[in-house]
Amino acid sequence: MILHIDMDAFFAAIEQRDNPALKNKPIIVSGNSIRSVVSTASYEARKFGIHSAMPVFQAKEKCDHLVIVPGNMKKYQANSKKIMEILSHFSPLVEQVSIDEAYVDINGLKRLFGSPEEIAHAIKKHIYAQLSLTSSIGIAPIKFLSKIASDMNKPDGLTIITKSQVKDFIFALPIEKVPGIGKTAMKNMAVLQIKTLGDISKYPLSLLTRKFGKMGHRLLELSKGMDLSKVETNYIRKSISSETTLSKDIFDFELVKQTILDRSQSVGRQLRKKNLVCENVFIKLKFSDFSQITRSKKLSATICSSAAIFNEALALYKTILLKKKIRLVGVGVTALKDKNAPVQLQLMPQTDKLKKQWESVDSVVDSISEKFGSNIIKKASLNTLSNRRNPHGKES
Ligand SMILES: [Mg+2]
Repeated sequence: MILHIDMDAFFAAIEQRDNPALKNKPIIVSGNSIRSVVSTASYEARKFGIHSAMPVFQAKEKCDHLVIVPGNMKKYQANSKKIMEILSHFSPLVEQVSIDEAYVDINGLKRLFGSPEEIAHAIKKHIYAQLSLTSSIGIAPIKFLSKIASDMNKPDGLTIITKSQVKDFIFALPIEKVPGIGKTAMKNMAVLQIKTLGDISKYPLSLLTRKFGKMGHRLLELSKGMDLSKVETNYIRKSISSETTLSKDIFDFELVKQTILDRSQSVGRQLRKKNLVCENVFIKLKFSDFSQITRSKKLSATICSSAAIFNEALALYKTILLKKKIRLVGVGVTALKDKNAPVQLQLMPQTDKLKKQWESVDSVVDSISEKFGSNIIKKASLNTLSNRRNPHGKES
């Protein structure tokens, strides 16, 4: 059996816990500016139709007495760390998937902690006793079903799907609940009259892959209750990204370029801190009408320097023909690998030397940022990069 735990309105619940004036009030945690989006909404705010990723001005329109609380990532991370520690007391097999979500393999724990239901209650109780936060848990014999189950009775929920219930559950599961089904796929589902995951199994693999690509194969497996995914403890985050909502919508190439530089720096720093390299860079632009596009590129070699990430991101940006004003700029990296894992030697000695130089710049910048905060070094390093000075220039 696999257990999936998801904290309830995590950021908002922490703020309500720490400030009694916010208890039972509609609050959102978000950035400071009115142009930010909702990061987490309290359950009181959700009653007004407010949800995460909604622009703050829209949330305010929905509820005039909404309280906006600026986020405090450090505090949330410290709470997250404690939750993961509690989980690791129960099982050595914990896979953290986000700041407030994890899978736990609970096989073989019966003698120590009792039935799956007893384990779930114990975990919820421990977290509440230590942190005064509620969580929702799903338990199922199949990994993806445990995640669906944890979402079924929020907040403070516990849903268990036993082996004998799996088949009926899959047949009744609304197809939009299956992770990874987007709007386009939903249109195709409607055409094929697929309403539940069980309906998928009525169609042959050939048709499913024609309509849904690679996902068709996975959907067919899931519809038959086949999902061999395990709880993976040595989980490496699949992507790192950083984005900024601009202070106003702009059409200005230079300013967007500066923002890309700034975000590349932040992504590079996070990447290096985790000792990772990436093989894929992407950018994301959101426009004044809230439509958005992403562009990504697979690289021929792994990188981790801010300069290299910036160069790739800028090249991607240059391929986009701008028709609308830009509201948000994001830079990210995927296909992450452990930096010390063996790699093929594919770089020319020259490139290798340049890469080493940039890496040494980064390590200086990173250690200064670590000591004095990222804002102090940001401007200096932006100048260094944008003026293409000697990487060993004084600013670094
Ligand atoms: Mg959550």
